[in-house]
Amino acid sequence: MIRLDLSTLTHARVGKQESVDLNVDHVVVGDMELIHLRGELEFVRVADGVLVQGEVHAEARTECTRCLTPYFEPITIELEDTIGLPGSELTPERPVRVDEAGWIDFAPLLREYAWLGLPVSPLCSPECGGICPECGGNRNLGECTCEEVENIDPRWEALRKLKDESDEP
Ligand SMILES: [Zn+2]
Ligand SMILES: [Zn+2]
Repeated sequence: MIRLDLSTLTHARVGKQESVDLNVDHVVVGDMELIHLRGELEFVRVADGVLVQGEVHAEARTECTRCLTPYFEPITIELEDTIGLPGSELTPERPVRVDEAGWIDFAPLLREYAWLGLPVSPLCSPECGGICPECGGNRNLGECTCEEVENIDPRWEALRKLKDESDEP
């Protein structure tokens, strides 16, 4: 949960602004785990709610698609959304609203936008050696001791055989 107090905006006139420095070390929301969240958020009272805009830098827990090891990927979360006023209807387009006391839980909104910041095929490192298809060992951890097999295209292999045979006396 990331609780933010928006009470000064919910009862303010349209156009009133407030900026919030976000500085959160760790948050778990549903299936998303974020650490080292830093950013500046701009909240503006609009006619039907509170508009939020900003950029949050964080690291999201994900899994390397090559070696399947969980790690934290640095991401940038670009936010722009409208938060409903107290008592407003919650819809899929507007899943967050300010409660009667003027507070919101900002984490579900961050989670939604964090997905957009995650790469489609995350890699723990560009040099990740992945999992060996032969023994299933993690090559990054030296778990694979399979002999390096030379990767020869079968068509070249056939040519090489021909050449070897023609070399024979
Ligand atoms: Zn990896
Ligand atoms: Zn291996």
